Amino acid sequence: MNIHEYQAKALLKRYGVVVPRGGVAFSPAEAEKVANELGGPIWVVKSQIHAGGRGAGRFQNNPEGKGGVRVVKSVADVAANAGEMLGQVLVTKQTGPAGKEVKRLYIEEGCDIKRELYLGLLLDRATSRVTIMASTEGGMEIEEVAHNNPEKILKVAVDPATGISGFHARKIAFGLGLEGKQVNAAVKFVMAAYKAFVELDASTVEINPLVVTGAGEIIALDAKMNFDDNALFRHKDVEELRDADEEEASEREAAKHELNYIKLDGNIGCMVNGAGLAMATMDIIKLHGGEPANFLDVGGGATKERVTTAFKLILSDKNVEGILVNIFGGIMRCDVIAEGVVAAAREVSLHVPLVVRLEGTNVDMGKRILAESGLPILSADDLGDAAKKIVSAVQRKAA
Ligand code: GDP
Ligand code: MN
Repeated sequence: MNIHEYQAKALLKRYGVVVPRGGVAFSPAEAEKVANELGGPIWVVKSQIHAGGRGAGRFQNNPEGKGGVRVVKSVADVAANAGEMLGQVLVTKQTGPAGKEVKRLYIEEGCDIKRELYLGLLLDRATSRVTIMASTEGGMEIEEVAHNNPEKILKVAVDPATGISGFHARKIAFGLGLEGKQVNAAVKFVMAAYKAFVELDASTVEINPLVVTGAGEIIALDAKMNFDDNALFRHKDVEELRDADEEEASEREAAKHELNYIKLDGNIGCMVNGAGLAMATMDIIKLHGGEPANFLDVGGGATKERVTTAFKLILSDKNVEGILVNIFGGIMRCDVIAEGVVAAAREVSLHVPLVVRLEGTNVDMGKRILAESGLPILSADDLGDAAKKIVSAVQRKAA
């Protein structure tokens, strides 16, 4: 799960990470109120969306205008810029061309930036350790730095069994070229960020930029946090920060029914059991020239009801022009799947081609149920056959 910058800053602050003072605003009047409370002389008006690159992003209604992060010098300008940004669609490198509507702003006190650095914490699955990444190239996307100047990224791995020690943090501080009292401030900062990462079950903490101010302070100017969904049950306060407006409605609906669903951009809906088989199905669709509309794992013990819900979810995607059901009946029986598919196809009065490939327990019974249903279901024998059939059915429909 993702949260907004201002929420991440509030969480990190609890652990001792230094952040500028600020307040959230949902209207220009609220923005003005926050600005007055903060006092001047400089304020920053920041769009709150679940995507980075806001500073360099542009608003759809005014592509020649200013970006989604603005430094202003009067309370009147805070309100005026808030009015220009709220309700408008901000397009950044990370939102894609459709952009995201800005519904809330964060008003912050200005900051005297001397240097912009990068600090990130993430779980490295290859080493099973928390990896702290730092770079002197702050402010720009770390993927870009990793690509063009990989030597400029410093990595320090922390074994979760022993936790973080001063030397880990000092390695980062010295690696960033910090000196004098900045070193101690950075050590405190890194240790606090690590504590927040571990205790809140985060999957990423990204501070970009981490700045050194004119006065030599170390401050998080931007903050991004991601959380492990499987651990949210023990962090009710984090769960409450969820902003449904920022999430794909169909993915939320799927989560409610314990379906693993991820919407994609293609036109062939996939219903599969098991994540590995789902990946293989998507690959083979692509191999035959098609594009999957989603990843969907209905799980091992799917009931008729779950299969129906999954079907409705797939069809709620306007891009779907055909469906491929690929189920291996191991624990699950093919006849139950077939019944589910037939019931769902009837209930939603299916209007796109449907290819079903069943294999495993009671497969003959399953195929008979499909054949006798009277529905225009194309049956397939193996994975390759199934992919070819759905790709050509969708192409025929388009032609
Ligand atoms: P992002 O573009 O979504 O990553 O948003 P950031 O919060 O990182 O802001 C983008 C850029 O705006 C930063 O890299 C800074 O250069 C600049 N910025 C943000 N806050 C301030 C501030 O208080 N003062 C000044 N001068 N610049 C700021
Ligand atoms: Mn940033």
